[in-house]
Amino acid sequence: MAAPLTPDGLAAPLLAWFDRHGRKDLPWQRAPSPYRVWVSEVMLQQTQVATVVPYFERFMARFLSLADLAAAPLDEVLHLWSGLGYYARARNLHRAAGIAVAKHGGELPRDLEGLQSLPGIGRSTAGAVLSLALGQRHPILDGNVKRVLARCFAVPGWPGETRTLARLWDLAEGCTPAARVGPYNQALMDLGATLCTKAAPACGRCPLAAGCAALAQGNPTAFPAPRPRRGVPARAVLWLVLRNGAGEVLLERRPALGVWGGLWGLPECPDGEVPEDWCRRRLGLAPQRVELLRPRRHSFTHFRLDIQPVALALGQSAGAVADGADRLWCDPTRPAQVGLAAPVARLLAELAASPPTSIPTGDPV
Ligand code: SF4
Repeated sequence: MAAPLTPDGLAAPLLAWFDRHGRKDLPWQRAPSPYRVWVSEVMLQQTQVATVVPYFERFMARFLSLADLAAAPLDEVLHLWSGLGYYARARNLHRAAGIAVAKHGGELPRDLEGLQSLPGIGRSTAGAVLSLALGQRHPILDGNVKRVLARCFAVPGWPGETRTLARLWDLAEGCTPAARVGPYNQALMDLGATLCTKAAPACGRCPLAAGCAALAQGNPTAFPAPRPRRGVPARAVLWLVLRNGAGEVLLERRPALGVWGGLWGLPECPDGEVPEDWCRRRLGLAPQRVELLRPRRHSFTHFRLDIQPVALALGQSAGAVADGADRLWCDPTRPAQVGLAAPVARLLAELAASPPTSIPTGDPV
């Protein structure tokens, strides 16, 4: 039986595997600059490579440089992010670009501490930017890497716990080689994404199989330990689909803080208030017709949102309620070029497919 892996024995077989099988032609690997690697790393948080690629290419085509990103309106950044989710990432990206332009001469800082001082950049993202773009020796510890290391060294505990995380960072540090750090970090991420996957690790093809402690114990998927179970709280919300005489839908900019902060969404009717009363109180208008649309559910990491959309026809006199700054009318067949929360975008697409008179209805409110 082969000896268990030691931290300094992990890089060699991993790099040999990477040279043969690793991904070397992803868009951000071409002409890798700190800016391009940073944007890709932020997009890749909680999101798969195949999903990220078209978003990255559109983003880079529009914001060629950090200065372009800093100068753009947040709405445009959120629009290009629409559908990727976790919108705080886009807001932080925009804020960090502004700080880099104001304080760092339009460049990202080239040291760990400077990078981590920017919004949304933690130790792993900073390490990835500096190693992948500049070849500096820094470990990374994203979700894929946590899984690979937890399995190779049979690390007990959930990585969200401080003690487990500290142990994984120690291992990440100890495993990082002195040379070829960029390819090594890329290889770790690739291995986690392609072979050492969460539910079905392909240990038979893994370059680390000979010394992998979790495999030796016969149950690789037991590592890392899952988050301790607790119920996911639910929140219910009424969304108002307010349509004017032209069939346009009223959108409101959401508050900067909170769910889908800064994106555009449908007005929410507070708990306990009747939608018609909301229209009279907030818009000074009486809706002509009220229908329930198909309810839907949106799951976040920490809670789920049960959404009941309610359609209200406001008629010809509704035009004045949109001020352009925080409220606008949107033609569902030609959605506005603004950041939309994903379920709002889906709902608008459904409305576009059915004229106002035939919106799928439920019971009268
Ligand atoms: S041997 Fe299996 S569990 Fe261990 S690192 Fe490789 S794929 Fe993951």
